[in-house]
Amino acid sequence: MGEAKRTTKLSMALGRRDQCGANKGKRANLDCTAKILNEARSFYVAFFLAHKEKLSEKVAYFSQKHQAERERTIGADELLTWAEYATVRTKAHTTPEAGWDFSAQFAAMPIVYRRSVIKDAIGKARAYLANCGNFVQSGKKKGLPGLPGAENHPTLYKGSLSLRLHEQSYREAFVRMKVYDGKKWLWQNYPVQASRWHEMRLNEQGWKQESPKLVLKPKSAELHIPQAKKIEAKKVIERKQDKDLVTIAADLNIKNLAVVTVRQHGKIIKTQFIKDRGLDRHRYRHMKRVSKHQWQSGKPVRGEHSNILLWRHVRRTNEDFARQAAKVIADICSQYPGSILVLENLRNMRANGEGKSHRLNRRLANQIRGLLRDYAKYKAFLHATVTVEVNPHGTSQYCSHCAAKGERFSYKGTKRMVWKGGKLFHCPKCGYEANADFNASVNHHHSFYKECHWQPRQKTKAT
Ligand SMILES: [Zn+2]
Repeated sequence: MGEAKRTTKLSMALGRRDQCGANKGKRANLDCTAKILNEARSFYVAFFLAHKEKLSEKVAYFSQKHQAERERTIGADELLTWAEYATVRTKAHTTPEAGWDFSAQFAAMPIVYRRSVIKDAIGKARAYLANCGNFVQSGKKKGLPGLPGAENHPTLYKGSLSLRLHEQSYREAFVRMKVYDGKKWLWQNYPVQASRWHEMRLNEQGWKQESPKLVLKPKSAELHIPQAKKIEAKKVIERKQDKDLVTIAADLNIKNLAVVTVRQHGKIIKTQFIKDRGLDRHRYRHMKRVSKHQWQSGKPVRGEHSNILLWRHVRRTNEDFARQAAKVIADICSQYPGSILVLENLRNMRANGEGKSHRLNRRLANQIRGLLRDYAKYKAFLHATVTVEVNPHGTSQYCSHCAAKGERFSYKGTKRMVWKGGKLFHCPKCGYEANADFNASVNHHHSFYKECHWQPRQKTKAT
């Protein structure tokens, strides 16, 4: 049993009014709301730090699992009730703790916002105290943890917003939020840039919506809407018992972004090459440009970025390609329920190469492999496929047929060149020849099942 999470980002239209944007006053209100919430948060952070002992208080409870009275640390909900009692004035309870009168400072703040900042403050205070404890234990002299800040993206719990995506058309989509204008709290409508994709994603079956966050950036505002989905996934150990287990291995590379092989009953039943479609070469051209600019402008200035647009383009294409390739892998996983995805444990690859642009490009190529691994893991899990990372040692050097050590080569014209980065693989023992990445991908299965070269070594007894 596990849980998958994802976030959908919804931009608010804060452009010009005649282009369906919100007006300036509304934008100012958003900032005002964030500001007052920050102030309220710092109030509660200070309050909890002044009552440290309460955060680690033990409460007794009856454990169903152990069928006995046990002790645990006080929970966030109990702390919240306690903090509200100590700081908030109500009709029945008119005397908050001296010096901590929240109602006087933040009159009329909606309850949902107050609870949201209290929860944030509990998390911040607890994290700070834990860091302090670690610091004292470590015995270091430098690096005392700093006091927690109050900044946070406000969480909008139920009752502080409502989202209307599809009224008549997506152009009229808006979110209704409770905001602060400097004097009072009021409901306001903010247009959002929604599309059919947003609506489909937010209403997809099986996904439970959680409380969105308001993320304010210097020139834009976004709603980040998290969703969670329960996934029934057996553990790897249980799956390994299954005789009909399907393993899907992906060898991640540069020109072949991934070579996917599917194995069942000891046989490869499906192979798919995911090519980079010229991405590596394309990126290399950009890197040449970057290195030329750097050469022209001399030493880089600290804190100053150059080639911002170019880097953004490269980063986005990288992410895009990684997502697409991960989708292909996940689609294969979805065809084999209960399967295991085998990926290699990516090592720190050195970005060697001739010339700066080459090295930069290698570094980015390594980055895309990391992205691809993360996305593939996540997307495969949505189909209840769990991922195992295996030791990649020797996967590209040993023969996947007879486990002998082989060599890599490629053809230059008709001439056969043996070198480490060759595209093809040759086994001198059994004469097997194949694409080197395919051979490596098949070897991942061997590594997972601990066959051939990857058998567990017998530990030599120390005498
Ligand atoms: Zn062989």
